[in-house]
Amino acid sequence: MSRSTVAIVGAGLAGAKTAEALRTRGYDGGVVLVGDEPHAPYERPALSKDFLIDGPLGEKILVNAEDWYDEHEVELVTGHTVTGVDPRERRLSVAGAAEIHYRALVLTTGAAPRRLRLPGADLAGVHHLRTVEDGTALYAALARRPRTVIIGGGWIGLEVAAAARSHGAEVTVLEQARVPMEHVLGARMAGVLLRAHHDHGVDVRGGVHVTALRQDGSGRVAGCAARLPTSTPRETWPTPGTRRCTDGCAWSTGTTPCTSPTRWPPRFSASTPPTTGSPTSSATSTTWGSSTRGGSNRL
Ligand SMILES: Cc1cc2nc3c(=O)[nH]c(=O)nc-3n(C[C@H](O)[C@H](O)[C@H](O)COP(=O)(O)OP(=O)(O)OC[C@H]3O[C@@H](n4cnc5c(N)ncnc54)[C@H](O)[C@@H]3O)c2cc1C
Repeated sequence: MSRSTVAIVGAGLAGAKTAEALRTRGYDGGVVLVGDEPHAPYERPALSKDFLIDGPLGEKILVNAEDWYDEHEVELVTGHTVTGVDPRERRLSVAGAAEIHYRALVLTTGAAPRRLRLPGADLAGVHHLRTVEDGTALYAALARRPRTVIIGGGWIGLEVAAAARSHGAEVTVLEQARVPMEHVLGARMAGVLLRAHHDHGVDVRGGVHVTALRQDGSGRVAGCAARLPTSTPRETWPTPGTRRCTDGCAWSTGTTPCTSPTRWPPRFSASTPPTTGSPTSSATSTTWGSSTRGGSNRL
């Protein structure tokens, strides 16, 4: 393992672009890009758009062609989670693989969907949308045109609603705010967006606070209990007003940063901090520019 290596943790768009920038700007030391997903870095935006309408898009969503990494001598390690960072020793712990030593570290671990802690959240038929696997499963579900409830009327929730409608599904969006996206777009533009969704047959409900998901007899999600805008807190399922879903309850309630394994200062009890240097976005701020490419980062 080369001490000249720049280690990039998180093989998403930011990680791939960091590797690309290092190479295009002439850095010729080792670069290792580690990600816990089993794919080369890909772009997520398509997952809530064409992907849900036309189906999985294969290599079209990759940030770089798979052979780009070999061609540019970027060690791409997929399917491995970095579980710890020892900045003093400049060492990464990787689940199920050898440690990685680095000279500089870039954390590009992105974000994960915020999971609602509600009764019924793990029922069959409930989807989140973050990864290619999530998108593939959601596409397959929407293609069956299920009655679909989307919890969260942000960008992604509304995009999923549009995709579900394009399959002919009956779609309801439940949003805590009075009008979806009003806090981002302002009242006027949010009103335009709301009308567009209504015109396409999406039933958008504002001011709804979902409190639980209910199941049918087979353990599949069948409805949402919610506090409605004009009511005092109460259970609404299976009384009138409850939104029912037969297979597709997607939720899209925002994201939370992926920081836990690499929290700063992680597993760090040393009295002497690492030496400082100049790399950008580097959690350890060590010097790395003077070394040559080389050393194996094979796991
Ligand atoms: C469905 C969807 C649609 C979107 N649409 C748009 C859009 O239209 N426009 C727009 O601007 N943005 C959109 N976004 C947001 C955009 O995709 C993100 O801003 C972007 O993915 C951020 O890239 P990133 O590389 O910083 O993080 P991420 O994409 O989150 O990548 C981080 C990677 O690090 C991995 N990782 C995390 N922790 C570890 C660890 N300990 N060890 C190893 N690997 C780890 C993660 O699994 C992930 O693969 C969308 C996002 C989604 C999910």
